[in-house]
This record gives sequence, C-alpha cells and structure tokens, in this order.
Amino acid sequence: MLLSKRISVLSESLTIAISSKAKEMKAAGLDVISFSAGEPDFDTPEVIKNAVKSALDNGCGKYTPVPGTPEVLEAIATKLKRDNNLNYKPNQIITNVGAKHSLFNLFSCIINHGDEVIIPSPYWVSYPEIVKYCGGTPVIVETSEDNKFKLTANQIKSAITPKTRAIVLNSPSNPCGGVYSKAELEEIGKVLEGSDILVISDEIYEKLTYNGEFIAAAAISDDMFKRTITINGLSKCGAMPGWRFGYMASSIDELNKAVRKLQSQSTSNISSIVQAGAIPALLGEADANIEYMKSKFIERRDYAVKAINDIENLSVVCPDGAFYLFINCKNVEPDSMKFCQELLEKALVATVPGVGFGMDGYFRVSFACDLDSLKRGIERIAEFVKNYKK
Ligand code: PMP
Ligand code: GLU
Repeated sequence: MLLSKRISVLSESLTIAISSKAKEMKAAGLDVISFSAGEPDFDTPEVIKNAVKSALDNGCGKYTPVPGTPEVLEAIATKLKRDNNLNYKPNQIITNVGAKHSLFNLFSCIINHGDEVIIPSPYWVSYPEIVKYCGGTPVIVETSEDNKFKLTANQIKSAITPKTRAIVLNSPSNPCGGVYSKAELEEIGKVLEGSDILVISDEIYEKLTYNGEFIAAAAISDDMFKRTITINGLSKCGAMPGWRFGYMASSIDELNKAVRKLQSQSTSNISSIVQAGAIPALLGEADANIEYMKSKFIERRDYAVKAINDIENLSVVCPDGAFYLFINCKNVEPDSMKFCQELLEKALVATVPGVGFGMDGYFRVSFACDLDSLKRGIERIAEFVKNYKK
C-alpha cells in the first residue's frame, strides 16, 4: 500500500470541505449563501497591515528563532498577563502556523499509542482527528443543551481512566458558543488535582465572549497553571485567519523543548512577516476594531437566534461566545448530513452537519457574514424546513 496507516485514519476537515464547496458553487455563478465559514468577514485592521509594511521595508525576511522573535514572544507574554492574568515567560511560548498547528505539535509530543484524550462533544472537527493521527484514542463525552453544551466536572470524573492523558476544553466553544465560568473551571480543576492529566485549553475565540466573563483555564489555580497548555491565535479575534498565526504557552519546560524540537524539523519558524504583523494585535493596538467586530457579532447573533427559534421545528440555544449557532433539527430531519446536503442543493444555503462535530440532529450556522445575507439565508432555511419531506 502506498499510503501510511497513520494517514488512512484521518478524515478531511468537514468545515473546510464545505466552505470550499460553497466557494466553488459561488464561483460557478450560483447564488449560494454560505454559513459554513469559520472566519470573520471583517478585514484585518489597518494597524496590523501597516506593521507588516514597515517590517518589510526594514528587511524582516530572515529566518527567526524556531519559537518566534524575542519581540513577538514578549508581546504574547504581555497579552497573556494583561488579558488573562497568566504569568508565562517568553521562553514558555511557541508560535505556530495557526492554532491548528499548535494542537498538531502538542498532540504529537504528548500522545503514545492508546493514550486517551477526553473531548467534549459537540467538538471542533479537528480535535479527534489529530488525536487519532497521533495514535491516541479520543474519548468523546457528550454534553447537552441543558448545560449549554459544557462538560461538567462530574462527567470528567466518570470519563477518567488510567490511560487518560489530557482533556480538551474549548471556551468559547466552536460550534456551540459555550463559555466556562470561573466556578465551572474551579470544579474541573478540583477533579484533576493529584493526577498528571493535562488540560488543553483552546481559547481562540476568547475576545468574542458576549455574556459573562472570559476566564482562562490556566488562571484558575497554581495547579491548573501547571497542567494547562494554553492555545490561542489571531485567526478569529484578530480577523487574520489566512495569516496563520497561533501559539501555545505552557509551564512544562520539557514539553516546550519537545515542541521546539519537532517544529525545528518541520516548519522551522513561522513566517517572519506574520510575526511582525501580530505584534500590534497582541499589544492591543487593534482593540477598537475588535470591539467593533464584536458589537456586530452580537447584533447578528441576537437577530439570528430569534429568527431561528421562530421557525417551527427548529431551535437553538443562544451562544455566549464565538460566531456559530448549533441548531437542533431533530424534528425536521435527524440525519444532519442529509439535511445539510439538501439545504445546499435545494435552497443554496451552506451549513455544516452536526455529525461532523460529533452530534447528529443538529447543524451549524456561522454568523460571520453580513446581516443582509444572514436574513436572506434564514428565510431560505425557513422555507426549506416548511416544505421538507422526509
Ligand atoms: N480551535 C478552534 C475551536 C477553531 O474553531 C479553530 C478554527 N480553525 C482553530 C482552533 C484553529 O484556528 P487557526 O488554525 O486558524 O489558528
Ligand atoms: N475553525 C473554523 C471552522 O470550524 C475554520 C475551518 C477549520 O479550520 O476547521 O469552520
């Protein structure tokens, strides 16, 4: 066989596959409304673009150290302290080609064959796939609408086995928008005390928290700081998805050394140009743009939640963060793949089936698009649902 066994277990990213299909259909002249994109529709702020322009004029084209330039690592440490009350030193931080790459590096360095990783479902599509690729076993723990799709400390307790290596937390979450409160994180922290289980805290939607306060998992206690690997980036909150800027921070020096070693043999440093552009974003110089983007997301969320809940047989829990609605369509069509395929073919609305996030009977709508498209798309969904025949 030509291909490795490792690659054969990996599925293609469904979110990317559907977004690409919607783009192709649009390019072919079809009037598709895409709710599949996991990226802000806002342009990258000027201050960031200008930083790149001046970096280019000042000859920033050389290799940088593998984890990043001293300036970008310092800027990340400053951001983590200022926004999240986290005391990471610059040498405990590594920049990567997007947070997906941070997770890829991380799982590659911590998983041995058969190690278990607890992942709450609905989950972002890539977590279980990367774990499987690295030889691990994803242990999927189903959450429910009643708890805004958040994992409870008791659920974690029941899922832990001697093989548990790590737990993935994603707050605010993709696809449900759940935000963990301080009390919830404290309870999770207590369950883990005395174990050597790592917490992988994906905080990429951090600044898009609409209700309640965003709390970083590592900020909960000394014990949580020691066991948590903080993952973040600028794809969502800096409106820079195509730039590919992510990072991980951890107090575990042995792990950081391993990730640097792996990266030194794969991508080396991330683009020097991107690092230069990231600095003003990390230092808060684009905060006004982010606040504006956030206010628009709130407006769209409020509109869309009401409009969806007004459609007979569809319902949605209001997300507290991120820019997705995870919509219950069980009363229309429990097979989410079939529902989304027909919605795309017949009504020209692209959405992502819940089954890709580990929960059938739901579909994901991204409201990272203008309000007018959101209105027109939801009208099409309403019409489609009204006429749906099983
Ligand atoms: N985590 C979550 C929850 C996401 O939705 C995404 C979106 N792609 C990522 C990580 C990865 O982001 P990126 O690689 O663009 O930094
Ligand atoms: N995270 C985004 C999404 O869920 C972007 C695509 C991806 O990387 O999965 O749609």
